[in-house]
Amino acid sequence: MALGEPSSAPRRVTILGATGSIGRSTLDLIAAAPERYQVEALTAQHNVEALARAARQHGARLAVLADPAGYGALVEALAGSGIEAAAGPAALVEAAARPADWVMAAVVGAAGLRPTLAAVERGAMVALANKECLVCAGAVMLERVRASGAVLLPVDSEHNAIFQALRDEPVSAVERLILTASGGPFRQASIATMAAATPAAAIAHPNWSMGAKISVDSATMMNKGLELIEAHHLFGVPEPALEVVVHPESIVHSLVAFKDGSMLAQLGQPDMRIPIAHALGWPDRISAATPRLDLVEVGRLTFEPPDPIRFPALQLARAALAAGGMAATVLNAANEVAVAAFLAEQLGFLAIAAVVEATLAAYQPGPVEALDAIVAVDGEARRQAAEIIAARRL
Ligand code: NAD
Ligand code: MG
Repeated sequence: MALGEPSSAPRRVTILGATGSIGRSTLDLIAAAPERYQVEALTAQHNVEALARAARQHGARLAVLADPAGYGALVEALAGSGIEAAAGPAALVEAAARPADWVMAAVVGAAGLRPTLAAVERGAMVALANKECLVCAGAVMLERVRASGAVLLPVDSEHNAIFQALRDEPVSAVERLILTASGGPFRQASIATMAAATPAAAIAHPNWSMGAKISVDSATMMNKGLELIEAHHLFGVPEPALEVVVHPESIVHSLVAFKDGSMLAQLGQPDMRIPIAHALGWPDRISAATPRLDLVEVGRLTFEPPDPIRFPALQLARAALAAGGMAATVLNAANEVAVAAFLAEQLGFLAIAAVVEATLAAYQPGPVEALDAIVAVDGEARRQAAEIIAARRL
């Protein structure tokens, strides 16, 4: 054990979305200090082989596949290991409900909502990478956090930076939260280049290596829009006090501007293992073999305003947040459908924001309701977005 490391009992951890980019980075950190963690459950959507391999390697007690069709293959892949296998959406929720101290919520999309809520409801420490579930149902999720005493640990690099910079300062001390954005692969691209962009070009992020959906969101800057809404829920700051600044180097991960004129930032290499390590050790700091930042090597940090013309998604997200009700649920659902259509080469890159805008236009803002109503609005927005996409292709 390194000097200054906490010496408590192993932390029991569950990873929802263990085979994805965030899930694998989390497992990397755990593998570097196996004596400090005991893996309870790992989940994945379809990839039996990757899930079974991770479950065996990390000594998980339970492996869950969201897709029920893969159950037989999972049982076979885990034969002789003593690891329990389960499949289907209910099993995913049960995995999250298992008694782990710490749960990484790293499913992509609103599909992660029910399992994340299951972890929240039993008062766990929930490391939240899955921003879509907060965007979809932020009010319900926060209400359940308050009721259960769960702790939400922001993993999204911007929110993790703000969480670190805020420490225990009250929200009344904050004037603005400034989220930095890399600008994505099309920061300097012309509208014509963006109109013709292929999935491969949109996914080729200059600084971060991430799953396909969030990479496309970064390219449209809808990712920053979702993050504005995420920041609003996590830190209780209203939309006008949330600012976005493009910072192509991705070294300053976000800032808090306090009302006395001080600004605090968190800096680091653009590597998600840094915010994940912060959440994994919380409330302690753990040593982690993450890449170190050499400021002299970086030399220069630059900042510029986002371009609202080429990146309308940012304004759509602001409008949804300001509209309130379940507009953010609609925004998120339409975006998930549009991004999937773009990745399937059924929709142009610039049409992603257009589909979100058209879906939002059909939504009449009403009050935020209970979970079932949110899920119904999410489903309806998905159907409408799919119809809008189909009509565009006629
Ligand atoms: P990914 O696509 O690499 O991995 C997603 C994981 O979720 C996989 O394990 C997959 O099997 C599982 N999954 C996908 N759909 C599912 C479904 N319908 N039901 C159950 N499981 C499902 O995605 P990622 O890049 O790791 O991102 C995960 C989440 O973290 C996203 O919400 C993303 O916005 C957020 N996030 C990611 C990064 C990053 O650097 N990758 C940074 C910040 C936030
Ligand atoms: Mg982020």
